[in-house]
Amino acid sequence: MRNFCYFFVVVLSLLILSEAGSSKYITQTRILMGTYVTIICDGSREDINGAFSVIKKVENLMSDQLPGSEIYLLNQKGEGEVSNWTAEVIKKAVEFSQITGGAFDISVGPLVDLWRNAELRGRVPFSKELERARSLVGYRNIAVENGRVKLKNEGMRLDLGGIAKGYAVDKAIGVLKRRGVKNALVNAGGDLFCLGEGPHGKWRVGIQHPREEGKIVGIIKISNKAVATSGDYRRYYVIEGRRHGHIINPFTGWTIQGNPMSVTIIAPDTTTADALATGIFVLGPDKGMKIINELPDVEAMIIGEGMSIFTSPGWRNYY
Ligand code: AMP
Ligand code: MG
Repeated sequence: MRNFCYFFVVVLSLLILSEAGSSKYITQTRILMGTYVTIICDGSREDINGAFSVIKKVENLMSDQLPGSEIYLLNQKGEGEVSNWTAEVIKKAVEFSQITGGAFDISVGPLVDLWRNAELRGRVPFSKELERARSLVGYRNIAVENGRVKLKNEGMRLDLGGIAKGYAVDKAIGVLKRRGVKNALVNAGGDLFCLGEGPHGKWRVGIQHPREEGKIVGIIKISNKAVATSGDYRRYYVIEGRRHGHIINPFTGWTIQGNPMSVTIIAPDTTTADALATGIFVLGPDKGMKIINELPDVEAMIIGEGMSIFTSPGWRNYY
């Protein structure tokens, strides 16, 4: 989870902030989980602090880059005890692997490391390197039982970057609700949940144009639902002058750039929206929409090659 391009988030924040300007709503942004996290709510500073603390807690448990985190230790040792939260996220991740036929797979760790190093070295990986890293990827080799996780093959590594931000948003919304907050928006780098309403009715969320900074392709109106976007323009590796999006196709080992350009998911919770945005991004519009259309209460907008826009039938209910 590293910092590259946050324009999408900035645009979203601006749009939302302009709504929140005049009223009892308060807002705060902090950098957490490698991105900007903005919370707007009609509660108090203490409510916002409580919500941020829980996001920090998720980061401390689940970042694969943070020495001492549960995922860091699990990746080092190949097995170990984890908290209920980490076990829950890993279980859910495996469910989304099953739903997406392996397109979403948190065991992409070795491939993510390979591409990270490729950026540092300034050359794309050799096919042998890709093959080796790819052979370690496989959600079926993750076992979770009674708070213990085992990675069945040596060298396997988990990367929760495609789901943990969504989970953190859900936890933050849980804290706000328990504290009695009725209206709030928690946005972690484009993975967000809209609780209740904004100052002027439903929360309005802008979908960023994937190629023109500051331009929005549409605005959706959301209440008590999550929205998450995965895009090749938000975070990427630059290798030999070319961009390589941060999402990796586990079947080929290659990064995905240009097709699709972005996937936005509306779902009942942010964990679902986050994981599906990443997984459907790998599958693309044809296979991706087939899966979306079979899932209850989930809608998608996919922006493909040449700005072709695909939306699921229920998407129009959010305009
Ligand atoms: P997101 O920003 O939610 O789309 O997730 C992108 C992040 O998820 C990447 O930066 C990686 O850490 C991780 N990732 C990359 N490819 C995959 C994949 N195919 N399945 C699950 N996680 C992935
Ligand atoms: Mg995601």
